[in-house]
Amino acid sequence: MLNPGMLQEQFFMADKNLSDELLREKLDKKYMKAALAQARKAIDLGEVPIGCVIVYEGKIIGRGYNRRNTDKSVLCHAEITAIKKACKKMGDWRLEDCTLYVTLEPCQMCAGAIVQSRIPRVVMGALSPKAGSGGTVINILDNPEFNHQVEITKGVLEEDCSAILKEFFTELRKRNKAEKEAKKAAMALEESESSDL
Ligand SMILES: [Zn+2]
Repeated sequence: MLNPGMLQEQFFMADKNLSDELLREKLDKKYMKAALAQARKAIDLGEVPIGCVIVYEGKIIGRGYNRRNTDKSVLCHAEITAIKKACKKMGDWRLEDCTLYVTLEPCQMCAGAIVQSRIPRVVMGALSPKAGSGGTVINILDNPEFNHQVEITKGVLEEDCSAILKEFFTELRKRNKAEKEAKKAAMALEESESSDL
């Protein structure tokens, strides 16, 4: 039988684990909000809104957002930019003890860079059905065959992270449709003008 002291200690431990978990959840949301703020910067450039931050000892040491069209480079994904900045700050290619927060599940390129930079934990918002390399299409982040495995936390502020993407694509479709219609109208006008000649 457990003596009262041991029992008390067990309760204390359970309580501590719970509060650690709650603290982690709270921090995850806080940093995902910072990643969302990065994603909003991409919207201003007409880019697909994906944002990322890297945190070390309670401080953001790298930020990034998608700039693929602006910089005309496939390498300009949010995670790669954030990794570059974090490495510069740390003075090391290894990002051990860092956590990476990203609004959308990383693609195969970014997941590869995350594994290569030894990041121990990735927190993601929305899942990516077409390129998700944290388990949706393929799991590069946590693959026992590689020399490094990443702990994955999914679904943090998932609704907000999905909503920002959905809104962007709805707007894009509207814009494309309006452009198409304007083109059609211009062509019809041109035709009617030339038939008048
Ligand atoms: Zn990527």
